[in-house]
Amino acid sequence: MVKLALVTGSTSGIGVGIARSLAGAGYRIILNGFGAPDIIDSVLSEIGAISVLEPIYIGTDLTNVSSIEEAISELLATEGPVSVLVNNAGIQYTAPLEEFPVEKWDQIVALNLSAAFHTTRLCLPPMKEQQFGRIINMASVHGLVASVKKSAYVAAKHGLVGLTKATALETAELNITCNAICPGWTHTPLIETQIEQRASDLNISEEEGGRALLTEKQPSKRFVTTSQLGELVRFLCTEEASQITGANLPVDGGWTAQ
Ligand code: NAD
Repeated sequence: MVKLALVTGSTSGIGVGIARSLAGAGYRIILNGFGAPDIIDSVLSEIGAISVLEPIYIGTDLTNVSSIEEAISELLATEGPVSVLVNNAGIQYTAPLEEFPVEKWDQIVALNLSAAFHTTRLCLPPMKEQQFGRIINMASVHGLVASVKKSAYVAAKHGLVGLTKATALETAELNITCNAICPGWTHTPLIETQIEQRASDLNISEEEGGRALLTEKQPSKRFVTTSQLGELVRFLCTEEASQITGANLPVDGGWTAQ
């Protein structure tokens, strides 16, 4: 039977890389995220071309609890258990703490942390029943260390690392694993504003702005790629990875070794 993999935030960036790797490994992909219809169609057809079964798209806004409950219950009823849950959707906003807009704080905590709690609690019962599950939370280096002007993101990602450990302990005997991946700079739309800001602050090109971000934090001085993250997710879904649970796995070119 073809297993289902739900990858949240998979209409862009890292989520697309994960969907590619899991589709290549034989999973039926449930895509989620926002975007213009032509972008979503092109991701669906790209993933469809490498899949055994057509991908499904759900446009659920994961900051809305009742929408999550409705979408997951419909999914479980029509398609069966989700075997692989990748909580990847996330947003960023930067501002000093005392100026941080309250609605941005709420939105970041809702999406980057609470959404993972909701999808996990809803997908767990059928995972427990089938005695198989893989839950992967896309945290960040900011789940392990902080940076200035990122209070909400850092708080939510540290919370996500904690949720990962708690989930792992409650599922350890059931052939269900839960791990967090902690990427460093990965060149996706999520960091575009920060690259532009750095370029404008230093009056340099965007390419040089990207290099400046890397030089400051990421010793490899190269961006992490979405396929490197996708392939780690694919490995975490194998039997060989079944003793890896409750871990936070940095993929950060040495950022957190400093
Ligand atoms: P991205 O902006 O390219 O993609 C984010 C995805 O989340 C998109 O598909 C978007 O539509 C979706 N999304 C946004 N709001 C949503 C909502 N309310 N409901 C459902 N989906 C929503 O960003 P990315 O860089 O690919 O980020 C993916 C994950 O990786 C995030 O959790 C991010 O925090 C994490 N991360 C990224 C980096 C990096 O450098 N890019 C580093 C560490 C961690």
